[in-house]
Amino acid sequence: MKGQMSLLEFTQKFATPEACLKHLEKIRWKNGEFCPHCGSMDKIYHCNDGIRHVCSDCGKDFRIIYGTMFGDSMIKMLPKWFAAIWIDTYQSKGISSIQLAKTIGVTQKTAWFMLQRIRNAFGNRDDDDDDFLGRIVEINKTYLGGKEKNKHASKRTKGT
Ligand SMILES: [Zn+2]
Repeated sequence: MKGQMSLLEFTQKFATPEACLKHLEKIRWKNGEFCPHCGSMDKIYHCNDGIRHVCSDCGKDFRIIYGTMFGDSMIKMLPKWFAAIWIDTYQSKGISSIQLAKTIGVTQKTAWFMLQRIRNAFGNRDDDDDDFLGRIVEINKTYLGGKEKNKHASKRTKGT
């Protein structure tokens, strides 16, 4: 469970928005960087703010959370999102929005919204799944991978 990471270790590791972003980039781009707008795997430019990226193909800019369960959340909220996921998935029955609001310091409305997103994404989660944060991105129903035509032949899915 949880890769043996305690809540304290977890919140220390993901204490800053930057640490969360780096983690999300690592897992979302594990097979190479791609643009979530057009799927191009051509050059992606990284802005100096460490948050935005620009696709050299379609020219659009994006954040790594584009098209994921975090949607258009503020980047500064990411550590709270990560903590909420840890807390809610740790307990088999989950946490109430009132409790979560107090625990991570958001309004109850925000906590309720976060829990909806978290349960959508992790509802059918395997309890023995250690890499649960890795699935934050993978589990998302929206477009995740690069375009098939841009992948190396060896990585292409058969029949596409
Ligand atoms: Zn693009």
